Amino acid sequence: MNPHIVAFGGGVDSTAMILGLIEKNEPIDLILFADTGAERPTTYEHIENFSNYLNKLGYEPIKIVKNKNKLGEIVTLEDDCLKRKCLPSIAYGFKTCSSHFKIQPQDKFLNNWQPAKETWAKGEKCIKYVGYDAGEQHRADNAAKRQDPKYTNKYPLIEWQWEREDCLDIIKRHGITNVGKSACFFCPSSRPKEIVDLYKKHPDLLRLANVQNNYNSKGSNPRDSDTNLALYLKVLSCLVQAQVEVFHLLAWMASCAIVRIHVSMKPFLAADIVIMCSYLSAPSSYK
Ligand code: SF4
Repeated sequence: MNPHIVAFGGGVDSTAMILGLIEKNEPIDLILFADTGAERPTTYEHIENFSNYLNKLGYEPIKIVKNKNKLGEIVTLEDDCLKRKCLPSIAYGFKTCSSHFKIQPQDKFLNNWQPAKETWAKGEKCIKYVGYDAGEQHRADNAAKRQDPKYTNKYPLIEWQWEREDCLDIIKRHGITNVGKSACFFCPSSRPKEIVDLYKKHPDLLRLANVQNNYNSKGSNPRDSDTNLALYLKVLSCLVQAQVEVFHLLAWMASCAIVRIHVSMKPFLAADIVIMCSYLSAPSSYK
């Protein structure tokens, strides 16, 4: 049988998908998680706990992969942002942060994974499970338009018609707790309530002290680029706590200007549009 691989995202959907596959006795040969180096502490805890749980059920522990440079050194998304003095690309309407730090590390690992290589050598494909839920048929349809010579994607949650509640049910039934959204703690696509949650639970992440130390030890003078990211988060936190809409908008625009000046970004229309759109969507999602 050709290898069955789970692209594990670390959140509710893919956790539920794995548990569903186990309950339905579907094959799982490898579970891969790509660590950007900036996941929330709760995600890291969940991955460790869930990996131990799977191991007790007789499955291999979750394989964690990370982005590396040509010298084989790990480079996190945070390192990359600070080095380039910019925000993750999603802030400007691109998805290269996800591509470089999520998809490519998994692809590189699989390109050297023996069962996959043997499958491709026979001219066949590996099976990849993707955790899109029943409401994400459009994403599966879009993916189907791209012919992948190496993988056949399967979408178990769509096949089973599992919604969010079904996913939460199976997770609860297995006694697994603290499964939250999996995303970089400084993701520009964060919803306001997620930023408030981060602010309350992990104010330390705003400081990014380790990164600052790394920069100082390299002798560069980034005018504390880490502060730029911290500032970005703080401004967002302040914004979502502001209740007056007009003030909200003005503060948001000011924050864009501050962030741009601090990270030495060139005026960038796309960034303005994206940031403004995210502002416009913020109040409803926050409420
Ligand atoms: S979570 Fe956000 S910042 Fe992190 S890789 Fe994905 S889109 Fe980029």
